[in-house]
Amino acid sequence: MSAIFRNMRFACVLLPLIYGAANAAELQWFGQSAFKITTQSGKVILIDPFISKNPKTPAALKDLKKLGKVDLILVTHGHGDHLGDTAEISAMTDAKVALNADMGHTLALNALVPYEQLIRFNKSGPIQPLVKGITITMTHAEHSSEVMITDPESGAKSLHPGGEPAGYIIRLEDGFTIYHAGDTGVFSDMKLIAELYKPDLALLPIGGHFTMDPVHAAYATRELLAPAAVIPMHFGTFPPLKGTPEEFANALGKTKTKIINMQPGDSIPLRRQN
Ligand SMILES: [Zn+2]
Repeated sequence: MSAIFRNMRFACVLLPLIYGAANAAELQWFGQSAFKITTQSGKVILIDPFISKNPKTPAALKDLKKLGKVDLILVTHGHGDHLGDTAEISAMTDAKVALNADMGHTLALNALVPYEQLIRFNKSGPIQPLVKGITITMTHAEHSSEVMITDPESGAKSLHPGGEPAGYIIRLEDGFTIYHAGDTGVFSDMKLIAELYKPDLALLPIGGHFTMDPVHAAYATRELLAPAAVIPMHFGTFPPLKGTPEEFANALGKTKTKIINMQPGDSIPLRRQN
């Protein structure tokens, strides 16, 4: 065996270990809009981590300590079913918390997340907070945002600025691109999101009342985003969120987009469909 051949074999074994090329990224759903992404290089990103008080999260996953390592938390807006356990998880794990700049002030000034852990940014300015290959971009969302804080001693509630509601584009190391729409109504600039970022996978709310219902989400999928795959979210958690995956599938009809119906707690590999 020549030295060159031996070295090539050595490189073939070693390179995937260095770059994690053999690992597929993974997506786990906790119910509502809470997702965990484990990237190819092992970075862990939580989005809208409403977990400990989420009626849809399986009991076995509600213990925040079981989350293990978390590198980054993305928060789409200030409502409790999205901000969720952000303060507790960031304190436990030292994870960075990326969110709109205004809500960042609210979290820091109310001692929920210290400024050192915050990445305060805004729509359309891509950031690479973990490694060069992972890019996060904040997008528009048609919704509202405020932060309600309950004083742990008196139980008194107070309202604080939540900045603009948002969605996120998350581009992973291999280019696989996820669009998490946050809470949103349908809006025509979803077409712009499709053109600029070409998401492979869209995570879309379908419950209605506060967000798109199944018909609106089907229109967004078919006419505006046209992703390879779509995962319905933000339904059934509370009584007003009446839209169902069946209604979404019926409204969508035949398209090239594959619907992936997850159950809370499920994990799927993130791979391009073609
Ligand atoms: Zn909301």
